Amino acid sequence: MGKYIFVTGGVCSSLGKGLAAASIAKLLEGNLLNIRLIKIDPYINVDAGTMNPYQHGEVYVTDDGAETDLDLGNYARFTNCPLSRDNSITTGQIYQEIIKKEREGRFLGRTVQVIPHITDEIKQRIRRVGDEDGVDVTIIEIGGTVGDIESVPFLEAARQFIHDVGKANVVYIHLTLVPTVSNGELKTKPTQHSVKELLEIGIQPDILLCRAEEPLNDKLKQKISLFTNVSEEAVFSAYNVPSTIYEVPLIFAQQKIDRIILTKLNITSKATNKKIKQWQNLVHSYISASKSVKIGIVGKYLELHDSYKSIFEALVHGGMKNNARVELVKIDSEAIENKKDISDVFEKVQGILVPGGFGQRGIEGMICASHYARTHNLPYFGICLGMQVMVIEYARNVLALFGANSTEFEQQTTHPVISLLEEQQNIKALGGSMRLGRSPSFIQNGSKLNAIYKKPKIYERHRHRYEVANNYRDSLIAAGLIISATTVNRELVEAVEWDNHCWGIGVQFHPEFISKPDIPHPLFAHFIGACLGNV
Ligand code: GLN
Repeated sequence: MGKYIFVTGGVCSSLGKGLAAASIAKLLEGNLLNIRLIKIDPYINVDAGTMNPYQHGEVYVTDDGAETDLDLGNYARFTNCPLSRDNSITTGQIYQEIIKKEREGRFLGRTVQVIPHITDEIKQRIRRVGDEDGVDVTIIEIGGTVGDIESVPFLEAARQFIHDVGKANVVYIHLTLVPTVSNGELKTKPTQHSVKELLEIGIQPDILLCRAEEPLNDKLKQKISLFTNVSEEAVFSAYNVPSTIYEVPLIFAQQKIDRIILTKLNITSKATNKKIKQWQNLVHSYISASKSVKIGIVGKYLELHDSYKSIFEALVHGGMKNNARVELVKIDSEAIENKKDISDVFEKVQGILVPGGFGQRGIEGMICASHYARTHNLPYFGICLGMQVMVIEYARNVLALFGANSTEFEQQTTHPVISLLEEQQNIKALGGSMRLGRSPSFIQNGSKLNAIYKKPKIYERHRHRYEVANNYRDSLIAAGLIISATTVNRELVEAVEWDNHCWGIGVQFHPEFISKPDIPHPLFAHFIGACLGNV
């Protein structure tokens, strides 16, 4: 039988439960354990696919095309856990399933209730992952904050787990905040109250992770321990890390969190420090890198850092590969739209990246950025929408197709160089209906892309509805645009490149989702290299 760790959060949101869960998973993997991670999002949406990035941050896409919470991205960057739609659970999915079963008559004669039907469904979904052959420990992160109405059924299911699998197989970890007040004092009261709230639900946490600006001293730990019934050695400091999120596993390792977890779960340690040592070296050499590189991100959801989380992280991974720290310069595409001269904006950066996005707002600014990069021989990386923008700009300014556009932004455009495929035109529902998930592409011989991937067939993840219109393909090629990758049947364009340019590549897929600090995606590594002038 598998073992289970529930991670809950208290006091307020955004304390970094996802990073904590991912970091703990990383340390357990360092003990040669086979770990799984599940994220529970208590909202009623079936998945994150239809949510605005400002509401939710980035939508992370798995190989099997699930549109999930961005914490799965953290899991992917820190660990080797396989991730699919099974690793993301929402209230919407649970109720959808139960209502479907009720309509099929599967509960005939009974009243369908939160306990036991909803909680059973939640537990079943968790155990489907955790009881799989060879899985040692499953970490379940329950989104939101204890006390939220939406998370009650999930916490109740977590509470019941002890009954189902036994106390020796369950650990509850609670992440709370220990704020600093104006005189610099750290206050434990919010933590005490938050644990009380958890106790009311029937969950006694085994381990506390205390978010604070600085490490907690022993006196504070003793106090927290006294009020919460959590033993002192199980009260840990999750203090602010100075440079990068990749330091979090290191500060946990220093405090030996994995030791306590393994003891509580009755697992004999097979600890090897090798993995964590390698991670440490990687992080330290990034922090102390002597070079740095400024990358301009021209996007439209920039006020919220989480909106482009995987892209920002993948750029950092590219920096790690090149021994250079990456400075992100966020450029609001709307703000540059009507600027007469944008050179002052772009002279400050060594490369431009235009990320994915939806809707017309800010598009013209992105097109300006693409034009600037192409005509100033500045490295340019277009991802999904960023590639479509590259094609629109090329059509307008090289092919002289004035007003060329995507039908996403201008339905009646005279030159729809980006448009919907016929099968997409008839789809009315927006949820889960895009081209989603992992699929293969063929790379054209002799292209830059070929030199970067060093193989003819690649697999990348997709999340888009619009495509380069095939009736413009020949004229784009004749005008010098390189189509450097296509779908295997050659029907759809997957990547384009500028000829006679230091580095101008656009990809219809999302390489950022599979990049890790220790295995940087080659496109990001190469792009950063080009920005440093190495290519
Ligand atoms: N809006 C574009 C499309 O649907 C691009 C999507 C994206 O960038 N993820 O095709």
